[in-house]
Amino acid sequence: MNDRISRRDFLGMCARAGALAMVPATGQLVDGLGALTREVGNVSSQPARYWTAIGNGRVQCNVCPRQCVLSKGELGFCGTRVNINGEMITRVYGKPALVQAEAMEKGPFFHYLPATKSLALGTAGCNLDCGYCQNWEFARSNPELTDNKNLPPRSLAQQVQDLGGKSITFTYSEGIVSIEYVLDTARYAHDLGLHVLVKTAGYGNPQVIRDLCDAVDAINVDFKAYDPDVYRRITTAEMQPMLDTIRTVAASDVWLELTNLVVPGYTDSDEMVRGMARWIVSNCGANTPLHMSRFFPKYRFRSVDPTPKHTLLRLRKVAFDAGLRYVYLGNMGGDPAESTYCPKCLMKVIERVGFRVSNKGLDLENSTCTRCGFKIPGVWV
Ligand code: SF4
Repeated sequence: MNDRISRRDFLGMCARAGALAMVPATGQLVDGLGALTREVGNVSSQPARYWTAIGNGRVQCNVCPRQCVLSKGELGFCGTRVNINGEMITRVYGKPALVQAEAMEKGPFFHYLPATKSLALGTAGCNLDCGYCQNWEFARSNPELTDNKNLPPRSLAQQVQDLGGKSITFTYSEGIVSIEYVLDTARYAHDLGLHVLVKTAGYGNPQVIRDLCDAVDAINVDFKAYDPDVYRRITTAEMQPMLDTIRTVAASDVWLELTNLVVPGYTDSDEMVRGMARWIVSNCGANTPLHMSRFFPKYRFRSVDPTPKHTLLRLRKVAFDAGLRYVYLGNMGGDPAESTYCPKCLMKVIERVGFRVSNKGLDLENSTCTRCGFKIPGVWV
């Protein structure tokens, strides 16, 4: 069981992520504090939060709208929570299945600490079952079947700081189902001056989402579809909780960005994108960055064709016309639509080609376009 991120591992991660600027700091790696997790094999047996005992040894999970009711020994839909002797236990606390250094832009976070690297991690398990899941091998797996590292919150935060990192990003699977791990990591990370970010589908109950907003710095919510039936066909879940989550994040101090995967036959109509963009403008504001990504066949959607590039270019214009100011295209192989343009003078303020980033057109200290002085929203330094 691996409880350390070695300097060599971290630099290797950075290199694989195309990192140029992560400078390893001095300092010793701290010991992994594995005792915090009360380990059972490669999974944790950490007491969970957000559950209710409902009699006869059964428990109800209150983390997400599925509200799983579990008898002794039963596992929730997400595979991360189990009823052990009438108590809810999380098996993924401090047990990420994938850990990599990633460009912040990979998040995608385009208005948050650009051109920095983040330690990205995700545990096994997810409370959705999206037909196009990119990480289904572990997101839809049981944590006992994945190769988990042992990185409890305090050790994780300390190692990232020692290695010169600025931030930690919970991504790849669903951070909401490992909410205890996210919240505790954020506490230690903030004590060390690190930023904590989360990429999520937003399928969580209101109290969990409020607690998440109180704990982390930036959230990217996956706006999978703006149609309840299509959302259900893609995810096996309901759309409204995702909309509620976005509203909660938008009303908080947390930096918000949104992602929308454009899938032919599902989410590629002008009407849907127009409705989504108008909803975002009304509920989050025109300055909310929207990342529209190109789909490639995966998992149960292997027979769906990749999204044509011209479709994405057309839909980007629809989103702009609906009032959004920052609409990006992803998985487009260096398309100019990956860059940030000043809404007033149209100058390119941040150029992105893949994960190569140049901020020359942005006054980072003042968050303004260097040509016309227009305020560009974001957390830049
Ligand atoms: S977090 Fe997991 S166990 Fe809890 S309600 Fe959601 S799917 Fe069920």
